[in-house]
Amino acid sequence: MRLASIAFVTLAATASLRAQSTRLDAEVDRRAAEVQSKVIAWRRDIHAHPELSNRETRTAEIVAQHLRSLGLEVRTGVAHTGVVGVLHGGRPGPVVALRADMDALPVTEEVDVPFASKVRATYNGQEVGVMHACGHDAHTAMLMGVAEVLAGMRQELPGTVKFIFQPAEEGQPPGPASIRS
Ligand SMILES: [Zn+2]
Repeated sequence: MRLASIAFVTLAATASLRAQSTRLDAEVDRRAAEVQSKVIAWRRDIHAHPELSNRETRTAEIVAQHLRSLGLEVRTGVAHTGVVGVLHGGRPGPVVALRADMDALPVTEEVDVPFASKVRATYNGQEVGVMHACGHDAHTAMLMGVAEVLAGMRQELPGTVKFIFQPAEEGQPPGPASIRS
């Protein structure tokens, strides 16, 4: 009898947890659909304004302003141009880190789209085109979207989420932009 009632309580608790997480999943899906058009607009804007490693000042500013607008704790200038936002959920749980990289590559864009990059910069003493050819524009925009989705449901969020926007994932160019001193 005793074992049976323990099994019943365990089953009931598991079912309740499952129902709770299904409800949270559905809420995430609903909010993700709501921010989709913003994520696309951010991605195109960042794509049109790519910045080389450790020079991601414009991108970092956009990210930091967005995270502040969501009420997150925000640190800027992390590892030169990185940004970290912290979201404290309303319920106890683990700390989870989500990361996106923000830098672009010394590659000239040759695709004819309205948000194509026309940016040029000096890299290793040479004039080069600059392009998000590695998808970091999408990574950054998506993580901004995730921050908005989760910040909107912080009361129900079990745990803490750290949003890490990393500079210079591709390796930093030598010269004035170098942070090695
Ligand atoms: Zn990359």
